[in-house]
Amino acid sequence: MIDLRSDTVTHPTPAMRRAMATAEVGDDVYGEDPTVRRLEARAAERLGKQAAIFVPTGTMGNQVAIHLQARPGSEVILEARAHIFNFEMGAMAVWSGALPRPITTSDGFMTPEQVSAAISPPISYRTPTSLLCLENTHNLWSGLPMDAARTEALATVARSRGLAVHLDGARIFNAAAALGTPAATLAAPCDTVMFCLSKGLAAPIGSLLAGPSDLIREARRVRKLFGGGMRQVGVLAAAGLVALDEMVDRLDEDHRRARRLAQGLAELPGVEVDPARVWTNILVFQLRSQSGEASPAARLAAGLRDRGILCIAFSDHELRMVTHVEIDDPAIEATLAAAGEVLEEIYQ
Ligand SMILES: *Cc1c(COP(=O)(O)O)cnc(C)c1O
Repeated sequence: MIDLRSDTVTHPTPAMRRAMATAEVGDDVYGEDPTVRRLEARAAERLGKQAAIFVPTGTMGNQVAIHLQARPGSEVILEARAHIFNFEMGAMAVWSGALPRPITTSDGFMTPEQVSAAISPPISYRTPTSLLCLENTHNLWSGLPMDAARTEALATVARSRGLAVHLDGARIFNAAAALGTPAATLAAPCDTVMFCLSKGLAAPIGSLLAGPSDLIREARRVRKLFGGGMRQVGVLAAAGLVALDEMVDRLDEDHRRARRLAQGLAELPGVEVDPARVWTNILVFQLRSQSGEASPAARLAAGLRDRGILCIAFSDHELRMVTHVEIDDPAIEATLAAAGEVLEEIYQ
């Protein structure tokens, strides 16, 4: 099976399995798991923040950050296709009483002018704005990386108006690899940053929320409130340490393969994709409308599934393929050959 649905489908590597089997553990709710402590310290260092906290999911990391930095009844500004808005089950409303203020963009990048205009003036009868959330890389915008200058410009506007800034950096290391910029530099303009071990870094579970020490201390209380207090999870943190040590430097390979996939697909009938707009490991592409075919995307996905290849049809005309450590060069070529067969049938 060639599984291109997501980089979350990766399995723990043999080195991770070994580290998990021999991990030193303790009760992490008491702060006594030495392996978790090591992972948190290493993550804080990598992200250039004072402290970090281990959480089971990226969603929890984002939502703990929102709970700490968005007051109930206040607005959180984010890009309209942001993960926090589209895939986190309205959690900011449920857990924090906060309202999303989505900004529609044509390329995935909010501008400082848009953010400035979306921030409420400090008038007693206007719904206040408390937080700006950014996403890097931007998942639904085809893994779009955002450079440090853009991040800085947006954060500066937010800061000058009293907002906190949170970065959903689920794939921050993909952004760092694509831009040739350290993750800490990309995160520097933001108060808090979340990243996932469970995506392209191939750990079985886990994310980290990094930020100032006093805020991360409070995050321990909120993590427990959200049901995320964990016990002997050094067995999981051990895999996370291997992910940080061994899996970051190879992400360029995934990016190269995603680009090759886009180049190959661009030559097939019906496909609309610009390989120059594939920056990291996520490829979102369109299929042209075809008379008599309600959903060419569903038909391509089904045809690929019959040939042992999995991807996701986002809509009738849009699909996503994601490369990761378990996708090698032959898998890319096999995918292109199979897609060619199915697309010839659809667009004959
Ligand atoms: C995967 C992801 C998350 C977190 O997802 P979990 O499944 O909760 O770990 C957050 N933001 C983005 C952009 C993601 O891709």
